[in-house]
Formats: sequence, C-alpha cells, structure tokens
Amino acid sequence: MDRPSSDRRELLKVSGAALAAACLAPSVRAATSVSAGAAFGKRKTQRVVVVAFAGGVRTRETLGTPDNVPNLRALAAEGVVYPRARTSNLGHYGAALSMFTGVAEQKGIRENVRGEDPTLFEILRKDGGLAAGDVWLATSGGAQQVNYSYGTHREYGARYGASTLDGDGIFNRRFQDLLRSFGKSAEASESEARVLARLRGSLDRRDAERQATADAVERYVRDELARGTADLTGANASDAKALRCARNILALLKPRLVAVVLQDADTAHGSFGGYVEVIRRNDAMLGELVAAVKADPDLADSTAILVCPEFGRDKDLNSRRGLDHGDGSDDLVYVSCVAWGPDFRRGAVVSEDVRVIDVAPTVCDLFGVKARSAAGKKLPGLLV
Ligand SMILES: [Zn+2]
Repeated sequence: MDRPSSDRRELLKVSGAALAAACLAPSVRAATSVSAGAAFGKRKTQRVVVVAFAGGVRTRETLGTPDNVPNLRALAAEGVVYPRARTSNLGHYGAALSMFTGVAEQKGIRENVRGEDPTLFEILRKDGGLAAGDVWLATSGGAQQVNYSYGTHREYGARYGASTLDGDGIFNRRFQDLLRSFGKSAEASESEARVLARLRGSLDRRDAERQATADAVERYVRDELARGTADLTGANASDAKALRCARNILALLKPRLVAVVLQDADTAHGSFGGYVEVIRRNDAMLGELVAAVKADPDLADSTAILVCPEFGRDKDLNSRRGLDHGDGSDDLVYVSCVAWGPDFRRGAVVSEDVRVIDVAPTVCDLFGVKARSAAGKKLPGLLV
C-alpha cells in the first residue's frame, strides 16, 4: 500500500472516531437527563430536520401547484399537512424567529437584534440535555440569520445556542470552537475527552504528529460539510447552499436537530417568475436532503422532517408584476406546514387552524421536552 492511501485510511479512521466522539457525548448526556430520556424511548424519532421555507411563500405556488414542488408533495403524501397554519408577524425576521421560539415575536423587532425568548435550540440543549454538536442551524442569509441560533434570555442564551453554518461555507466562531474541541480534550466535555483519549492512545505518535492528525480531522470535517456547496448557483444559490450544508451535516454527524432557514423566495417583490423559480429549485434541494435521509439506514427510520414558510404573500400582483406581503389576505396569513416522520400519520390533512408558532413546541415535544416559554402548542393530529 503506498503512503498517501494509508494516510488517507488513517485519517478516515481518526475522523470516524472523532465524529463518534461528537455523536457519543449526546447520548451519554441524554441518558442522565430525565426529561430527554424518559419520553424518548417510546418514539422512533431520534432526530428532526426543520426547514423554515422562508422568504414569504404562498400555498398557491407550493401544494396549490403540485408541479412546482414534487418533493414537498411526496413528503405531504407520506406525512401530515396543515394547510391552515396561521402566521402572526409580517416581517421576515420576526416571523421566522417565531418558528424557533414558539412566540409571536414583535412585528417591529429590529433585524439585527437577537430575540428575548429562548429558541428551541436553547430549550433542547438546556432542558433536554443535548450537546452543541447535536443541534445545528444552517442559514441562507448570513449574519442576520445567525441571530436565530440563540436569544438573550438570562437563563438560556449563547451557551445553549445552536452550532451554525451559513450557506456560503464560512464557518462561524462557535463552529470553529466545536471543531477544535474534536482534537483537543481540554476544551471537550468529559465524555468527549474519554473517547479522544482512547483515540490518542491508539495512535503511537509524537505530539507534533498527533496535532497534525487533529488538524487533518478538522480539515476533513470542514471539507465534508462544505462539500459541493461552492458550485451551487442560480436564483436560489444562497438557499441551495444552506440546504446542501444541512444535508451534509445530517449525513456526516447525524445530529439530533438540524434547522435550515431559507430566504431567496423574497425575490417575489420584484419578480413573480423569479419567485416560482426559487420555489422549484428549493424543492429540488429539499428532495436531495430527503433522498439522503431515506438512503441512510441510520437516518431513514428515525428522522422527522418539518417544512413550513414563515408567512405567505399577497393575493394580487403589485405594479411590477411581483408579490409583496402586507394585504392581510388568507394567501398571506395562512401557510401550509408539512410534517413527515416515523411517528407521524401518513397521508393525513388536518384542516383545523394551527399556528406557525406551534412548530417549536412540537419539535421540543418530540424530544420529550416541554417548551415552557412557548405560546404555541403541539400540532394536533400529528402522531400515529
Ligand atoms: Zn419581503
């Protein structure tokens, strides 16, 4: 065997162990947490993907025009559809944030300020015992959307935030810290440190070489998460990158929660055609994510997916033949939420009114955690 390929083999072995460390720690912690451990055993759902199909997307162009969204339609056929999910905020930022807090955020919330209510990421990490490596947020909109990862609540906040990736593959500070913790036990938790110690013990090398290996693991993880994102172009380039990152995180790390926030559909203000194009392309990327779940035996029977826009759009075209959001019509106020997963009913339509803010408490409930701060409720008629 020549040297490069044996190095590569070793790297893959090491990466596997480092990733095992990342994935093992949560289960160790979950076992010590009564709230997360208790209810979890009864359900097949081990992980959840939340897609905030945001940017303002009407049902008319999604489930109302099935040819636009073959993949969303397939999820709906195998899952539960809520065609009357009511939105409560008509600014993009606050409305999408509401999905993650379960609270109708103030309409006037400034677009670069974190919310005051804890997000489902913080709730699941603090009250559900999930680790940073378990809870991920992939965003399309750069710095502003990273604010969704945690709020300013005194009992929650940054230390319980989601690990975030933005769609351009520029990894944020938290993620860099997390990566470093894979290779350096001083920054890792006790259980991670134990696994890393075993990993290091198995490598008969000098310190400098060990550090080189840790660096290679970091590079490998980073490359894998960014895989294929740079060449994504087109009307939905930012959204496509976020969805690709989410798929790669799922496939590589198999975390407990991955959320994705999209935004490119808001091109609708100036172009109805461009907006439809974004929806169609995002549906194709959603299909890629679903295919990755279904093809992986570790994910296929244990992963739930929820897809929901933050709000719809106006009933009528504006003077530029685009669609704004502000007319108070049912097209704007009601969106369709789709839920698919091993514990959910199949082919069901729940026609009663629900709310977009029900997403956060529903996801928390799937992990056996009560979202005490949320005003929303568990989605009705969801479970088998
Ligand atoms: Zn807009």
